[in-house]
Amino acid sequence: MAVTVPGWPVSVRWPWRYRTRQALWAGVDLLFPPQCAGCGQVGHRFCAACESRVVPLSPPVCETCGHPVEQPGQCLLCLLGTRPIAPLAGLRSAAFFDGPLQNAIHSLKYKGDIILADTLAVRLAQVDLAAAAGDSLVVPVPLGQARLKSRGYNQAALLARGFSELRGLRCAPDAARRWRETDTQVYLSPAERRANVAGAFESDLRVVRGQTIILVDDVCTTGATLAACAAALMAAGAAAVWGLTLSRAPIAPSWAEQLRREAGRRGRRRDFRL
Ligand SMILES: [Zn+2]
Ligand SMILES: [Zn+2]
Repeated sequence: MAVTVPGWPVSVRWPWRYRTRQALWAGVDLLFPPQCAGCGQVGHRFCAACESRVVPLSPPVCETCGHPVEQPGQCLLCLLGTRPIAPLAGLRSAAFFDGPLQNAIHSLKYKGDIILADTLAVRLAQVDLAAAAGDSLVVPVPLGQARLKSRGYNQAALLARGFSELRGLRCAPDAARRWRETDTQVYLSPAERRANVAGAFESDLRVVRGQTIILVDDVCTTGATLAACAAALMAAGAAAVWGLTLSRAPIAPSWAEQLRREAGRRGRRRDFRL
């Protein structure tokens, strides 16, 4: 079965493994009626009202980092070099990290609502990503051993599994490893985030050599974690690494204003959307 989402050029496939799990989850729902992860309404895992409040980052987006722009090209962040994502070939996200999606990701990550990953993976499968049309290898951003043990699962791996099945791509859940535990990134500046995760990953060259990789994570703030993991994959011989996240942090209005002033000083278009 193919599902075409209105307004999106991408046709989503539903292979049998994904469909089988959906049937299983439907059985679980009969026994234990779910609560919407966005608003708490009983009877839905993620209700239609919450789904409709998630605004996809639809094209045109920045050709480098995937941030929405007024016209094709690069966003202010990339033009000004404010958010370096190298060695990623590019970065795309399904939506901004706010509202019901933020609640849903919180449930997936911290409340053990692992079934939600398959629901949210549909959003990833809808992202317009050229690499997903080829024979790319899907790899989740790994957790450190301690965090994996305490949480019991890697939410990025669950999302990567659903995404790869929906797009008919191969998935290598263990292709990258976080060999060093990293501090939580929440309270760190962009530079501190990059230093925190630099060199924290390693990758299996037998799996990734020569491959175009789609590196999947749940949230992206500065792209530092994805870039550090991509560096390990490239060092192991990957041909290219694209980042794909379910959500990304919106740009704070004060920072946006700062960027526009800087762009104005450099003679860039001031009306360029971030
Ligand atoms: Zn809801
Ligand atoms: Zn950009």
